[in-house]
Amino acid sequence: MGLIVQKFGGTSVGSAERIVNAAKRVEEEKQKGNQVVVVVSAMGKTTDQLVSLASEITSRPSKREMDMLLATGEQITISLLAMALQEKGYDAVSYTGWQAGIQTEAVHGNARIKNIDTEKIKSDLEEDKIVVVAGFQGSDSGNEITTLGRGGSDTTAVALAAALKADKCDIYTDVTGVFTTDPRYIKGARKLAGISYDEMLELANLGAGVLHPRAVEFAKNYQVPLEVRSSMDKENGTVIEEEPKMEENLIVRGIAFEDQVTRVTVTGMPNGMTSLSTIFTTLAKNELNVDIIIQSLTDEETSSLSFTVKTHDLEDTLNVLKKHKDELRYGSLESENGLSKVSIVGSGMVSNPGVAADMFEVMASEGIQVKMVSTSEIKVSTVISQKHMVRAVEALHEAFELSKERAAIS
Ligand code: ADP
Ligand code: ASP
Ligand code: MG
Repeated sequence: MGLIVQKFGGTSVGSAERIVNAAKRVEEEKQKGNQVVVVVSAMGKTTDQLVSLASEITSRPSKREMDMLLATGEQITISLLAMALQEKGYDAVSYTGWQAGIQTEAVHGNARIKNIDTEKIKSDLEEDKIVVVAGFQGSDSGNEITTLGRGGSDTTAVALAAALKADKCDIYTDVTGVFTTDPRYIKGARKLAGISYDEMLELANLGAGVLHPRAVEFAKNYQVPLEVRSSMDKENGTVIEEEPKMEENLIVRGIAFEDQVTRVTVTGMPNGMTSLSTIFTTLAKNELNVDIIIQSLTDEETSSLSFTVKTHDLEDTLNVLKKHKDELRYGSLESENGLSKVSIVGSGMVSNPGVAADMFEVMASEGIQVKMVSTSEIKVSTVISQKHMVRAVEALHEAFELSKERAAIS
């Protein structure tokens, strides 16, 4: 007998029929003799609808009330799934994040899980109950409801799997696994049999929405075996583990991309040791995340700085910089919208120099201007115009031969 955590995403519980289908997948694990904890997302597009409902009331909703609102989505699904399981004759119980003992830091909208008090879930499992937990939510030390950031139900599932020392965590979604790139945009995308935690973490952080980045972080830190698979199809999914069976000749494993990127350029900053840190400390204090950063010396006295932010953070970023202009002592501020980030990821890059050059060559041959670059040991990211994003991904997918089936090597 094992302990399995299953997670069903929004599409997989998007209607009563799909909730019944999810209950069948839960039943299959239960019938194998496993203990089962199930984590669910809000039904279909519920979370988006709640966000847009709030926007009809105010353009600046308080983060606390947004958490109160968004947490309701998952609460609908847990109760319905528990009912579907009870209808099948199982003893099932549903819990909100708070009831399930999910304790987070005191941050609204993007809280991290600090601890999970698993006592109640464990005793339910011992009584042979199926425990259904609301994803994406927890509570802080002041009993305030918090949410984990969009897509955060994955993190609830993996964190629960880690805390309960589950044998496995299965993420059921609307694709059959992790692909070389997003199969909704790129026709030739191919499902991977396996991928390492590190590569998956890069892909997730760089925009591959199939898994919440913090879920992968948890999985790596606690060595939780993870599988991404379809809730509709029975075929094997993609296994994410420390050392998956490698495919031969693979330098680039996948391509991630995201739009809504904006570049901010600050010119005329006095050269010196502190200007850079002052700017980024100021932005961080205002909870503004900065991504790719490029600094260049303009002349002996001044330098300029470019960095990217999510487009929806632009207004706040400019406001913060303007507010602190006297102390930051820069000359002017500029910004460019309509950008995207396209990244190639693969652990084989460590031992294969020249991959970045190959990437730039592909962009050049497509006539796509690369505006910014950032690299790590296992990825190269480029900032390009949003209108070229899909074409760039297609060309890179082709150039690095990612559609080609490859034999596994052990
Ligand atoms: P869920 O609601 O089940 O959590 P998500 O929409 O969050 O589902 O994640 C699944 C989606 O992730 C897919 O429909 C797909 O469009 C997208 N996606 C992005 N990159 C990838 C990738 N490399 N492999 C598979 N799916 C991807
Ligand atoms: N319902 C939340 C969202 O749509 C969390 C999740 O689905 O993972 O972002
Ligand atoms: Mg998701």
